[in-house]
Amino acid sequence: MQGLMMDYPLTLDRILEHANKLFPHKRISTKQPDGSIHRYTYADLYKRVKRLANVLQKLGVKQGDRVGTFAWNGYQHVEMYFGIPAIGAVCHTLNIRLFPDQLAYVVNHAEDKVVFIDATLLPLFERASDKITTVEQYVLVNAPQGIETKLPNIVHYEDLMADVDDDFEWLKLDENTAMGMCYTSGTTGNPKGALYSHRSMFLHTIGENQANALGLTEADSVLMVVPQFHAMAWGLPYACAYSGAEMFMPGPHLKPEPLAEIIATEKITVAAGVPSIWNGLYHELRQNPRDISSVRALIVGGSAMPRSLIKAYEKDLHVNVLHAWGMTETSPLGTVSKLQSHHANLTDEEKWDIKAKQGYVVPGIEMRIVNDEGEELPWDGTTMGEVQVRGPWVVRDYYKLEGSSNQFTKDGWFRTGDVATISDDGYMQITDRTKDLIKSGGEWISSVELENTLMAHPAVREAAVIAIPDERWAERPLAAIVLTEDAGDITADDLREFLLPKVAKFWIPDKFVFIAEIPKTSVGKFDKKVLRRRYTAGELG
Ligand code: AMP
Repeated sequence: MQGLMMDYPLTLDRILEHANKLFPHKRISTKQPDGSIHRYTYADLYKRVKRLANVLQKLGVKQGDRVGTFAWNGYQHVEMYFGIPAIGAVCHTLNIRLFPDQLAYVVNHAEDKVVFIDATLLPLFERASDKITTVEQYVLVNAPQGIETKLPNIVHYEDLMADVDDDFEWLKLDENTAMGMCYTSGTTGNPKGALYSHRSMFLHTIGENQANALGLTEADSVLMVVPQFHAMAWGLPYACAYSGAEMFMPGPHLKPEPLAEIIATEKITVAAGVPSIWNGLYHELRQNPRDISSVRALIVGGSAMPRSLIKAYEKDLHVNVLHAWGMTETSPLGTVSKLQSHHANLTDEEKWDIKAKQGYVVPGIEMRIVNDEGEELPWDGTTMGEVQVRGPWVVRDYYKLEGSSNQFTKDGWFRTGDVATISDDGYMQITDRTKDLIKSGGEWISSVELENTLMAHPAVREAAVIAIPDERWAERPLAAIVLTEDAGDITADDLREFLLPKVAKFWIPDKFVFIAEIPKTSVGKFDKKVLRRRYTAGELG
C-alpha cells in the first residue's frame, strides 16, 4: 500500500524561498579583493538568483548543461549556487588551484558550456584556455570594462544581470535533477566527477543542520574559509540559507591575519576550514591576540586535525573545535566528533582524545568497516578496516565513468579508501588512507598517528610521514618536519626520544628531514605524492 503524503520535490528553490520568507534581513557579506566589504541580504540574494536564472536562459543554457564557476568565495558565487540549479543546469565549481592541464581536463570532461570567472583569476584561467574545447561563453565577474583577455566570447556578469528582471517562476523540476558537480582533488590519476542532485543536496542540507551534526541556526554567523570549489564549500551555503545563518565570505583573503581580523570584528560564531588554515591562524593569534570568543564552533575537516592543535585551541584560546570527516563523494558530510552525554565526566585530556577522532556518523549516513575480503569488522576501537558508507547524499558512481570504478561494492556501499577503527560507541578514527599506510616487516604503521604524535611536540609545526622503500623491512617511515620559528636546535634524536614512550618502537621513523614547508594539495592537504617524488629524486636526503 502506498502512503498518502504529498508529492513535494526536494529542490533547492524551496531552500531559497524559506530563507527569503523567514530571514530576508539576514546578511551575506563578502570581503572583496580590494579589502572593502560588500553586504547584502537574503532578500537581495533571492532577487538576484531569479535574475541569474533569466540570464542563463537568455544565454541559451538548457536543463542538464554544465556551467563552470572559477571563483573565490563570494556573494556572486552564492548566486550561482542557487541560480544555475534553478534552471535545471549543473553548477560545476572549478578548483582554482589546479594545474592548467588538469583544469582543462576537468572543463572538457564535464563539457562545461558556460564558465563564470572572477576577474582576479582570469590570468590563471587563461593558462588553461588553449586546451579547452567545450566552452561557448565566458562570463567575467567584477571585471573592468575593456579588460584585455585572450578568451573568446566574453560578457560581463553585471551587464547581463542589469539586462533582465527579477521575475522568474521556479521550474517544476524533478528532485533527481542534477544540480552541482565537483571533481575529486585527484591525488592519483585524473580527477573524477561527483554529480549531486537537488534531492541529495536538499537532504544533505537538512542532515548538516541537525543538532547532532553541525546544527546551524539563525543566531550563527558563518565564516566559510573552505573554498566554494571544495565539495560545494561543504554544503554550507545551503545550510546557512535554510537555517537563516549569516554568511561571511573571505574572497581571496585567506591568510591568517585577515582571517583573525574578520573573526574578531564580524563576531563570527562558526568558522569552517582545513587544518592547515587553523594551524596558521593559531600561530597568528598567539603572536597577535584578538578576541575571538564569539566562535562557538571551529569546524575542521578535509584532513585529520592534529590532537595537539585541538588542545591548543581549546586550552589556550577557549575555542570549541568541531572535527568532521567527509569526502567530495559524500557531499561531503559523513561524521562529526561531538562529545556526548556519557563523556561528561571525562578529563579534558580524555575529551581531546575523542575530539581528535573523526567521530560518529551523522543521521542519514550508514557506515561500516570491512577487511580485504569485504567482511564487516567489529566496532571495538582497535580493529582496523576500510571505511564504507552509503546514504542519500553518497555518490553511486562517477560522472561518465559509470561501471568502471572499483570503489562501489556489489551490495551498494561506497569504498572510501580510508582505513579506520570504530569504537563501541560509534566514534570512527582514521588511521590512514589505504595508499598512505606503511607496511614494515609485515606490520602496519599508521602515518596519521605518527604525524599527530609528532605535531604534539612544541617545536613541531607540521609533520608528514611517508613510506620509503627498505631492503629488509619492505617499507620504513620517513618524517618530514617543519619546525616552529622559536624551535631552537631540535634534532632528529630529540624527536626520536620524544616518540619512544608514545608509539611502538618499530614505528619510529628511520629518517627525519627538516624542511621549510610541507607541500600541499589544491585543497590544502599534505601532498604525500610530492614528498614521495622528492624523496625518489634524492631531494629529501
Ligand atoms: P576530499 O574529497 O578532497 O575532501 O577528500 C576526502 C578525503 O579527505 C577523505 O577520504 C579522507 O582521507 C580525508 N579527510 C577528510 N576529512 C578528514 C578528517 N577529518 N580526518 C582525516 N582525514 C580526512
